[in-house]
Amino acid sequence: MHREGTPSGTSTKPPSPAGLTLSRPTLVGSPNRGTGSTAADARAANLILVLQTLYRNPGLTRAEVARRTGLTRVTISELVALLIDDGLIHETGIAEQARPGKKAISLEVRDDTTDIIACDLSGAERLRGGVYTLHGEQRRSATRPVNGARGEAAIDLVTDLIADLMTNPDKEERQLLGIGIGVPGTINSDGRVLTAMSLGWSDLDLQGRLHERFGVPVNVINDANAGVLAEQTFSEGHSSLLRIQIARGVGAGLLLDGQMVIGQSSAAGEIGHVIVQPDGELCPCGQRGCLETWASVPALETRIQREPERRDAILAEGGRYLGAVLVPILALLDINDVVLGGESRLLDGPYSEAACQWVDSHLPGEIRRPVRVRTSSLGDAATLLGAVAVVLRTSLGLR
Ligand SMILES: [Zn+2]
Repeated sequence: MHREGTPSGTSTKPPSPAGLTLSRPTLVGSPNRGTGSTAADARAANLILVLQTLYRNPGLTRAEVARRTGLTRVTISELVALLIDDGLIHETGIAEQARPGKKAISLEVRDDTTDIIACDLSGAERLRGGVYTLHGEQRRSATRPVNGARGEAAIDLVTDLIADLMTNPDKEERQLLGIGIGVPGTINSDGRVLTAMSLGWSDLDLQGRLHERFGVPVNVINDANAGVLAEQTFSEGHSSLLRIQIARGVGAGLLLDGQMVIGQSSAAGEIGHVIVQPDGELCPCGQRGCLETWASVPALETRIQREPERRDAILAEGGRYLGAVLVPILALLDINDVVLGGESRLLDGPYSEAACQWVDSHLPGEIRRPVRVRTSSLGDAATLLGAVAVVLRTSLGLR
């Protein structure tokens, strides 16, 4: 299986002198394992480990970080000093648990020095972007109306959106860690867009072109993959997690043991055209009875318009078809956390309940365990937050 790749721009000078992972893509995603080949590798892995520990547990003292990471107090002091120099963490005061007479300073990942730019290109009407802190808080946002732009015109639109976000109206001294972009299409592990029909792109090195234009690391990923990263980093998603995006189509993002799965043809998660009803309605793809003819937003809306009095029954039927597609996936991969993302007015209620019920009653008995099928709490911010998350992962090893 191909798994997540490395950002463009690994040869550029990182904003962080500690040289976390911008110059060491092989360490990314394996802070606990490292490569172990050299002392520098080990130190970089330990830096990621300390940063990750503080990212997840703000307010720890140096002693607590040492306890949690298993590293010595001396090593922690050195690493913390480097991270403070980089402007990635800071001391925030006296920790509550400090004993009288003994000062223990609590530490946190900073939100006031480093930005990430995120873009969501999945909207039919407008492209969205934002400037985010390392904790995923939006500082600024911008949009560009699509107006049918495709091909080069669509690239110009994205470039213009990013250029707008890069202008700093506050004149603050902040460093830009990288740019993350969620694209509705098939994206390979190098951020090359193989196809993105709605934007008229095929075989486009979007990641490379934007890196060349802006001179910072760029990560281009599929929007459903962005969604699953967002659930893990900014919500309560498990490290093995399936996220189904119910929108114009039905797609999935998959994390296995914290690693994003992209697949042999970079098309993992494309479940929308799995046939669930062989003699069903004609799908735009040419087949009959694809999952999308039942479980996508347009399909549900069309059916409800036709028979408004059967709204709940139609939603439940859509949910059951989705459940039927989920069962073999969950059985195969031993995943018990499933998130449904998309329009909550359709997903909350009969749709997600029916999907959950179907999964509950159809997983083979010998492996049955509680499977949670729930709706996302991230709303329409999931792709943007996922674009933030992919930069955190590839540039700092954070997840
Ligand atoms: Zn189809």
